[in-house]
Parts: sequence; C-alpha cells; structure tokens
Amino acid sequence: MVTVNKELCIGCGACVATCPDAFEMGDDGKSHAKDGAADADCVEAAKNACPVSAIEA
Ligand code: SF4
Repeated sequence: MVTVNKELCIGCGACVATCPDAFEMGDDGKSHAKDGAADADCVEAAKNACPVSAIEA
C-alpha cells in the first residue's frame, strides 16, 4: 500500500515527475497515490525524491 500524508505534502510535484505511474496531483494541489501504485517500480525513487518524506510505502 502506497500512501501520501496530506498533512506533510507541499504539492511540489517531485513524486509525479519521478513516478507518474504511481502518483498524480489532485484538485487539492496535493499528490495522490494512484490505483495500483504499489506495483510501480519507481515508488522507492519517488519516496526518496519527496522533500518532506510524505510518501509511505
Ligand atoms: S514529492 Fe512529496 S511533497 Fe512533493 S508532491 Fe509528492 S508527496 Fe507531495
């Protein structure tokens, strides 16, 4: 299960740029994990790219 902590996310878009298969920006300006995000092999890279460590996987 991949989740984005909405309290921490600052909406920088780094995870979407790093791993568009698993993340997308929502209408709230924050990142959301897509359905099936756990199957993407770039989740770890996105996790490392997040400046506020908002991604849990
Ligand atoms: S990299 Fe982190 S802070 Fe930036 S949009 Fe993604 S979850 Fe939010």
